[in-house]
Parts: sequence; structure tokens; C-alpha cells
Amino acid sequence: MNLPEPFVRRVLADLGEAEGRALCAALDGESPVSVRRNPAKADAAAEFAALVPERAVPWCREGLYLRERPSFTLDTDFHAGAYYVQEASSQFVGYLLEGLLRSGARVLDLCAAPGGKTTLYASLVGSDGLVVANEIDRRRASVLSDNVRKWGTGNIAVTTCEPRAVCDFEAWFDVVAVDAPCSGEGMFRKDDQARGEWSEGNVRMCAARQDAILREAWRALKPGGTLLYSTCTFNRDEDEGSLERMLAWAGEEVVGAEEIDLGAEWGIVCGAVGPWRTFRFYPHRVCGEGFFAAVARKAPDAGDRTHVPKARRQVVAPVDRKCAGELSRWVCEPARMRFVEIAGTCYAWPSAQAEALQALSGAVPVIYAGVALGQLFKGALKPDPALALYAGIDRSAVAVAELSGERAVAYLRRQEVSPEGLAEGINLICARGRALGFAKRIGGRVNNLYPNSLRIIKQ
Ligand code: SAM
Repeated sequence: MNLPEPFVRRVLADLGEAEGRALCAALDGESPVSVRRNPAKADAAAEFAALVPERAVPWCREGLYLRERPSFTLDTDFHAGAYYVQEASSQFVGYLLEGLLRSGARVLDLCAAPGGKTTLYASLVGSDGLVVANEIDRRRASVLSDNVRKWGTGNIAVTTCEPRAVCDFEAWFDVVAVDAPCSGEGMFRKDDQARGEWSEGNVRMCAARQDAILREAWRALKPGGTLLYSTCTFNRDEDEGSLERMLAWAGEEVVGAEEIDLGAEWGIVCGAVGPWRTFRFYPHRVCGEGFFAAVARKAPDAGDRTHVPKARRQVVAPVDRKCAGELSRWVCEPARMRFVEIAGTCYAWPSAQAEALQALSGAVPVIYAGVALGQLFKGALKPDPALALYAGIDRSAVAVAELSGERAVAYLRRQEVSPEGLAEGINLICARGRALGFAKRIGGRVNNLYPNSLRIIKQ
């Protein structure tokens, strides 16, 4: 599919003939393939069965360009959450936050699905921090929730509501990230649908929506906190334009972020809009898709007082000591956890964030938070599939069964698994040492407990 004509005219006018043509040519070329390692499950020395890393992404410690695109669907490391498939430019948001996040920081990722940036923030805030990942679209929020379970850091809450509702938690977050819905010009290389859906009317609609989201985001940010704005479009009206319109109403409350050093050879084009620092990624200059990122802070004396909305529902119940004893067996650091029950399922929340999670659960629809541990029957835990994927599971609580490649893929297809190598009762099923889920052996039979909704269908 051809690039939209008005888009081509505009980039030639904005960038000049030679540079504009180079950009259009790059948009008709091949996309690099990249992933980001999960440091909770795969350290720098970790090897991956299906990936052939070529080199590191320069602005992301965990980022790797791959030599070729593997079948991610058939890779057990992918299903174990050992890495996230994420294009390289968007990994840059982590670079902007590095060194900024104190222990226990709260991050709001306001437009979060499917979760690429959410999982990156979760790796940065540490086990006492919290990422609130909001997604307005319920169907997309459910995919986000699956990816959060798979990442397994236990420090994310997934909410699904309009930005207004979660931003009623005013002056409450240390960082607010707006990865705005946009016209997607930066995706023209990867995604024909983005080319097909592009129109000038859609650009105007996106710009208006971005203005509304930024207004909400600003309310939620603490004085002294950091606002990250990003899009995957080159369109000025949605990039610098959104920041200019925001400065017109936020005025001197917006101040500059810390100095940010970049490698000149990375090819990122730096700029500024008032106190905002901006970063443009053009595919003919950087090894990644088209992307725009910007960072600024709210003045420390901006004066907003924290406001927590009133609880409208009571969904969270404490668990008694006996139950807490059983739940404690399953996690490596029970002393840092608060155990709660929601609709019959027990969860572990980071205790440093328990009050925050309680307040959120009372005011907005939280569809997942912390780690789902499972249900208690007669004092014993029937583990939730999410517990298998939690990086902090205590493996001494359960028998561990290692499956070889094909057997592991059969498990992920939810096919029958033979009982060899499995202990009687519940087993944590692993491939290459990385946990995938649970199975229960009863004599010569094995119940495959991998969730139906996640099973591999592809042949
Ligand atoms: N941050 C995500 C990631 O890294 O995986 C990608 C987010 S995508 C660019 C933008 C998201 O904004 C979409 O999931 C979309 O459903 C959501 N969205 C659409 N309209 C919105 C609105 N009015 N307010 C907030 N979010 C919206």
C-alpha cells in the first residue's frame, strides 16, 4: 500500500526534499526486530533458545536487536515472560526515567495496552514501587492484564476506565506517562492498517484527544513529578503541537527535566518546546520505528494537594493468619507482601503499596493487581496460573517438572502431558528452567492446568 499523498507532501515540506525522500524510502523498507529482556527472569548472561541476538539497543540495557524474526509463538521463553517483543525506539522511555525513580515510586501509565511500556516501567520501579497501568478499552485491557501476569514482577495494577477517573487521584503519582493514541505515521513501515486508516481528519481528532488526555495527566502528577509524553507519529500537530497547546494552559507549572545525555551516533533528533525536551526517532536515522518522546516536570511549588477519591466499593478483604501462613509458603519474600482476598481469589500485594492499592480498588475498576496466588480450599492453595509466572514464587513450595522442547510446547497447547517426571499432585511446569504454568498429576493421569485463553493455537 502506498504512503498517503498528503503525508508525503508534508514530510517533504517539513524535512526538505532529500531527507523527506530518505524517510519515505525507509518506510518502505524492512523493520528491525527487537526484544527487551525481563531482568527478573533473564539476567544479562541469559541465553534464549529461539533468539539470535545481534547487538544491544544503545538506549536500553535490556534491549536486543535480533538477527532474524523467530517464531515467538513457539518459543517457551516468550511464554515464560523472559522477554517482551518491543520495537527499539519505544524502549527509549525507560532511558528518560533511569535514575529518576526512587524506591517506592508510583508511576501512572495512562494509555497502557498492550503493555510494552508498562512492563518496562515495572522493571524500573523495583519491588516496592507500583505501576498503575490504565487502558480505556476493556478488550485491550484484558490483553494488557495477560502480559502483566506473564511479566511476573508483582508490582503492577491494571485498571480500565477513562483517564478522568484514574486521574481523580490528584497529585498522587511521581511519574505519569502518556503514550497517546495517535495517527500512527511511525508505524507505516510495520503496519498497512496504519497507512489505510490515516487521514487529515483523523490527525485532528487524535490531536484533540491528546489535549484532553494531557489535561487529565497533569492533575494526577505530584509537584516535582515527571511527565512523559510519547506518540508513534511524526505529525507536528500531535507531537510538539500537543505540548505547545498544553503549555498555553499549564504555563509556569511546567519546568525542565534533568539534562539527558545521548550518543550522537544513535541518530535521535533532540529539540525543545519551552521547558519540554523532545526526542524524534526517524527510521532513516535510527534503528527503530518512528517515535516521538518528550519529558518535563511539574514545578515543585505547583501547589496541588494530594486528593484520593472516596471509596465507592469494598472489594478487598483481609485474610486470616492461618490462610496467610499457607500463602506465605509460596512466595520468596512474604514479609514484604500483604495478602488479600478479592472475589474468592487470594492476591499478594507489595506491602509498601498496600494502602495505595486499597484506595485504587475502592475508587476505580482494578482488573488485576499484584500477583494472583489462587484459591484456598480446606487451608491449601489451589495455585493460580499467574503464580507460576511470578518471578518471586518460592519453588520449594511445589514439585518442579522440567519439560523438554516439544513436550513443553504441547503443554502450552493444552494438550495431554504424559506423567513421566511429574510428582503426584501439583507440579510447576518449566522449560529450560523457566516456569510456564501448573499441572496436576493424579496417578497415571495429568491435568493440564494451562489457561485455555492463553493456549497456543498456531500449528
Ligand atoms: N503504551 C502502550 C504500549 O507501549 O504497549 C501502547 C499504547 S497505544 C499507543 C495507545 C492506547 O490508548 C491504546 O491502547 C488505546 O486503546 C488507548 N486510548 C484510545 N483512546 C483513548 C482515550 N481517549 N484516552 C486514553 N486512552 C485511549
